[in-house]
Amino acid sequence: MMEEFDLIVKGGTIVTASDIYIADIAILNGKICLMGKDLTCSAKKIVDADGKYVLPGGIDVHTHLDMPFGGTVSSDDFATGTIAAACGGTTTVVDFAIQPKDATLAETTEIWQKKAAGKAAVDYGFHIAITDMKDEIMAEIPAIIEAGYSSFKLFMTYEGYRVTDDTLMKALKITKDHGGLVCVHAENYYVIDYLVKKFKAENKIEPIYHALSRPNLAESEAVNRAIAMAELVDAPLYIVHLSCKESLAELKRARDAGFPIMAETCPQYLFLDEDNYREADFNGAKYVMSPPLRKKDSQEPLWLGLAKGDIQAVATDHCPFFMEGQKEMGREFFAKIPNGAPGIETRMPLLFGRGVRDQKLTLTKLVEVTATNPAKIFGMYPKKGTIAVDSDADLVIFDPEKLQTITKSILHEHVDYTPYEGFELKGYPIMTIAAGKIIAEAGSFVGKAGAGKFIKRSAPMIL
Ligand SMILES: [Zn+2]
Repeated sequence: MMEEFDLIVKGGTIVTASDIYIADIAILNGKICLMGKDLTCSAKKIVDADGKYVLPGGIDVHTHLDMPFGGTVSSDDFATGTIAAACGGTTTVVDFAIQPKDATLAETTEIWQKKAAGKAAVDYGFHIAITDMKDEIMAEIPAIIEAGYSSFKLFMTYEGYRVTDDTLMKALKITKDHGGLVCVHAENYYVIDYLVKKFKAENKIEPIYHALSRPNLAESEAVNRAIAMAELVDAPLYIVHLSCKESLAELKRARDAGFPIMAETCPQYLFLDEDNYREADFNGAKYVMSPPLRKKDSQEPLWLGLAKGDIQAVATDHCPFFMEGQKEMGREFFAKIPNGAPGIETRMPLLFGRGVRDQKLTLTKLVEVTATNPAKIFGMYPKKGTIAVDSDADLVIFDPEKLQTITKSILHEHVDYTPYEGFELKGYPIMTIAAGKIIAEAGSFVGKAGAGKFIKRSAPMIL
C-alpha cells in the first residue's frame, strides 16, 4: 500500500549547487521523502511546476530583526521580517543575538529566543554577537556552541560594540578549540572616528559623507588584520558583508595561501553604488549602512569573486529603518542616521532576476551562494541548503519568465522604502514552501507566523 504524501511538486526543473534536472518531489511530514521522474503516488496536494525552477529555499545568514541600534530599533520584527523573507523565497534566517551590556551569553540567547518565539514564519538560528568580552563571558563560549549557537560575531568598529584586537584573537582561539566559527565586522574604528570628526568640524553633514568617512581601506585594513589574527591562532574566520575590491584582494591572498578564511557579500554591494548617497532631499540616507556602498569599480570584482568561489555567500544584512522618524534622526549629521537598509525580500529575486539574467551567476552558483554554502558554513547542512531525500522540504519556485519591477508596494518589509525601487527583473519567486507547507504564493504570504522553528546548528564546514 503506497503512502499518501502531503505534497508533490511535479515536473519542475530542480536546481541544486551541482545539478539541474527535471523531477518530482514528494513531501511528507515536512521532509523530502521521494524524488523521481513521473511519480504516480498520491498526495493531498499537487503543485504543477512544469516550466519552473525549483530551488532550495534561500538561507539568509545575516539579518537584524527587532534590533536596538543608535537610539531606535530596526523596524522589522521576527513576524514581519520573516514574512518578507518568505515572500522573497527565503526559508531560513540566521539573525544576530546581540549581547546587551552586562548580560551573559546565556541571557542573550534567551532575550533573542523570546523575540522570535511565536512570531517567526520561517526557521531561524542565531549568531551570538559578543560586545562585552570579559573572562567569564569567554568561558561561556563552549556551552553556547553546545547549545546550537555555533557562530559568534565580533565588531571591530561601532562604539559600544567593538572589541579590541587582543579580545578578537582570544575569541578566535577559544571558538576554534570548541568547534565554532567567528564572524567579524571588519572596519578600522580609528580611521572612521578620525574622518567623522573631521567632516563634522568642516560642517560636511550630508549622507555622502557617511561613505567618505568609511573609505575602502578602512575595511580592507581591518580585513587584513582580522585574517592575520586568525592565521596566528590557526582559526577559521568568516568576514561578514565584504564590500570592496581591496578587501577581496586580502581575502584571496589568504585563501590562496591555504587559510580557512571565508566571506559573504550582500546584494547592495553588487547592485548599488556610492552615487546613491548623492540623491536629493536626504534620500541618500536610504543607503546609509556600514560598510557603505562603494564605487562602481568594486562591483565586477565582487561578482567575479562569487563566480570563482573566493566569496562563498550572499546574505542581506537586512536592518531596516523608516525614512520617516528613524533615518531622519540624522538630517543634521550623517553619523546620526541609523545604519542599515532593508533587503531580506529582494535578495533571491535580485540575484535571479538580474544576476542570472545578466549572466553574472549561473543558476547552480546562485543556489550555492544563497543556500548551500550558508547551510554548510553555519552547520545546517544537509538538513537545509539542498534538495535531497531526508532534507527539510524548504523550496522556492521561480517562474523564469515572470517580469517584475521592484517597487515598495509589492514588498512585505515593514519599512517605507526599498533601495531597489524601479529595478526590472526577469524571473521572480511564485511560491515558497517551508517544512512542506506553502507559505507564500503569487506575492502573498499564506503561511503562519510562529510556524518557524529554532535550528540548533552544528559545527561549521570550512569551504
Ligand atoms: Zn549586520
